[in-house]
Amino acid sequence: MKQTTKTNNPDLRGTVLLSADNISKFYGEGRRRIQVLRDICLDIREGEIVVVLGPSGAGKSTLLRILSGLSKPSGGRVLFRGEPHEGPNASIAIVFQTFALFPWLTVYENVEVGVLNSDLSETQRRRSILKAIDTIGLDGFEDAYPKELSGGMRQRVGFARALVVEPEILFMDEPFSTLDVLTAENLKKELLSLWAERKIPTKAVVLVTHNIDEAVTMGDRLVVMGTDPGNIRVDMPGLPLEERAKDHPEHIRMVDYLYGVMTNPSEVVAPFGPETPVAMPEAPALRPFQVLPHVEVGQITGLVERLHSANDREDIYVVGRDLNMEVDDLLPLVQALDLLGLGDVEEGDVFLTPVGVRFADAGLQERKEIFRDQARENVQLIRAILHGIESDIANRIRWDDVLEDMERQFTTEEAERQLDTAIDWGRYAELFAYDDSDGVFSRESEEYSAPPEGEEGESEAEE
Ligand code: ADP
Ligand code: MG
Repeated sequence: MKQTTKTNNPDLRGTVLLSADNISKFYGEGRRRIQVLRDICLDIREGEIVVVLGPSGAGKSTLLRILSGLSKPSGGRVLFRGEPHEGPNASIAIVFQTFALFPWLTVYENVEVGVLNSDLSETQRRRSILKAIDTIGLDGFEDAYPKELSGGMRQRVGFARALVVEPEILFMDEPFSTLDVLTAENLKKELLSLWAERKIPTKAVVLVTHNIDEAVTMGDRLVVMGTDPGNIRVDMPGLPLEERAKDHPEHIRMVDYLYGVMTNPSEVVAPFGPETPVAMPEAPALRPFQVLPHVEVGQITGLVERLHSANDREDIYVVGRDLNMEVDDLLPLVQALDLLGLGDVEEGDVFLTPVGVRFADAGLQERKEIFRDQARENVQLIRAILHGIESDIANRIRWDDVLEDMERQFTTEEAERQLDTAIDWGRYAELFAYDDSDGVFSRESEEYSAPPEGEEGESEAEE
């Protein structure tokens, strides 16, 4: 049966604008050389919003930079309308996660930056700037300065600056991720309807995200990337527009399907279709959790450093002797290393993976970042907590609820210990915030205010 592509602009469907032809990318040199992208083949066609979904570190931003000509692939080619193309391309514009606006320029002038180098006449230029400002809902804010605008409005200036060049392809790298949930939802809806009404003057959009719901909401086509090295695991049509709503059964099924794909990084996945059983029809908790070894981040760091000082590889008994640990105590530590993708065991030796070596060499902040990526990628319980936070309307999830789910698999005591470990790791990695006093997980760096009404928090002892 012929696979049909469900784009919103069916009469534009088809022509390939941009292709990645077997792209690979390496960073670093010698022993530090790391492959970040492997065998990427991808066609961007007219009329599509292509969403590239993947965990942090999958190489999404790298791929986007290569496709847009900002960076060179190590192998393979990028073709624009069938012709090899190198270097920045005027037909392409990019919106970044946080768009760098010039604080001393007005909204109008910030958008004007997009067309400063064009050969438009003064009148044409003015007309296209005002049109972009109008399209993106900034009408009336032409003379405002960035500091007078909300985060959402500032990001709109970023979109307007990208649209004013009327690029053939618009690339967006997690453009909603720094906005609060409601603002982001609102902006997504508006962009979608502008796109459906063809008021966005581009032929294709490539949107990078790590948010599954956003991918299902925005994507005419969904491309799922896996890591180590970054590769394309799934390339599939998105839902028809009318089915893209958080409570539509197909939307929910596709979110669950993608969640299943992303939490099983090493599995070959069945394509999504009407009959595809999704990974978790009911709740994430029905999926068995890994058993987390109970070790603290400090111990993991200690082992990594010990191994690094021995050329990244050591006999497990020698390590035990040096660290003054029984092998039984050492094993959970080695398991943790393995689980996090920092190390592995081979013929009685423990050794560091390239990521483990990078971790060993990194400074404090970079270590946190590496640990964050590894934990988010590999630790199911942490993923489940993050998923819970993301899918909750207030971005909060209760310790009690997580525990209850885990008790289907563990004794209460073990479930509590598992959660303690996940909290220790997650806090260190700044993946989420956890408030001991009311037992609530929330997004990192985002304090929630008063607890919802009708809920009596355990009253704290007064100071
Ligand atoms: P994503 O956008 O999916 O989070 P990135 O493309 O930013 O992924 O990064 C993919 C991998 O490449 C990560 O492991 C990251 O640390 C590494 N990386 C990205 N940019 C560089 C660089 N300039 N030098 C070395 N490594 C890099
Ligand atoms: Mg990125």
